[in-house]
Amino acid sequence: MSLPATVIPLPQPVLLPVEGSAESFPVRRVYCVGRNYADHAIEMGHDPNREPPFFFQKNADNLFAGKDFPYPPLSNDVHFEVECVLALKAGGADIKAENALDCIYGYGVGIDFTRRDLQAEAKKLGRPWELAKAFEHSAPVSALVPASRLGHPTAGRVWLDVNGERKQDGDLNQMIWKVPEIIAELSKLFVLAPGDVIMTGTPAGVAAIKKGDSISCGVDGIATLSLKVV
Ligand code: MN
Repeated sequence: MSLPATVIPLPQPVLLPVEGSAESFPVRRVYCVGRNYADHAIEMGHDPNREPPFFFQKNADNLFAGKDFPYPPLSNDVHFEVECVLALKAGGADIKAENALDCIYGYGVGIDFTRRDLQAEAKKLGRPWELAKAFEHSAPVSALVPASRLGHPTAGRVWLDVNGERKQDGDLNQMIWKVPEIIAELSKLFVLAPGDVIMTGTPAGVAAIKKGDSISCGVDGIATLSLKVV
C-alpha cells in the first residue's frame, strides 16, 4: 500500500518496544482508569466503594520508553502514579468480560504522571483533566511483555521507589475493577482497536517529585522501569 501525498510531513507513529523482540508495538489511543485501588481512592478523598469506573485519556505520543522524565512546565506539584499497562491486539464495541482477555497483546508497567495542582484546580472548577494528565512525556512505560509468554496475571506487587525509598506498594489483586471488567466497561463507551493502551490505575502512596529524583517501579512478574527526573 502506498501512502497518499500529504501537505505536511506525516506524523511519526508512536512505537513501544517489545521485550525480547526486534518488532515494536504501534500505539493508537491511551485510556486511563481513575481510582481503581480503594486505598488510593481514600487518599484522594473519595468513597472506596464500587462506584462505576471512570476513564480519561492521554495522547499516544505522551507514551515513551526513555530513561529521563523532563519535569513539565506550569506545575509545582507533579505526582507519580505507578500502573499496570495493557496493550490491545484486538478490540470492538460491547466486549463481554469473558472474552476480554483475548484482546490483550501484552502487559507492561508505566507511570501516569499528573500535574496535581492543575488537576485540583480543574476538579474545583469542573473543567477537563487534559492539562493535568496529557502533557509531554506524561506516561513513561516499560517494554511490553507478550501475554503469549506471560499469561494474564491477576496478582503481583505494584511498587514504586523514589531515591531508594518505597512510596507505593500495592498488588494487582487489589484492583476494584479487574482487567476483563475494565475492557468490557471501556468498550461500552468507545470502540476499542488494536494499538490501544490502557493504564489500569494506581495504588496508594502517590506524592510529589523533584528534579534529580531517581524513580524505580514495577509490577512483579511483568516488568520494571527506572527513570531520572530532569
Ligand atoms: Mn492514574
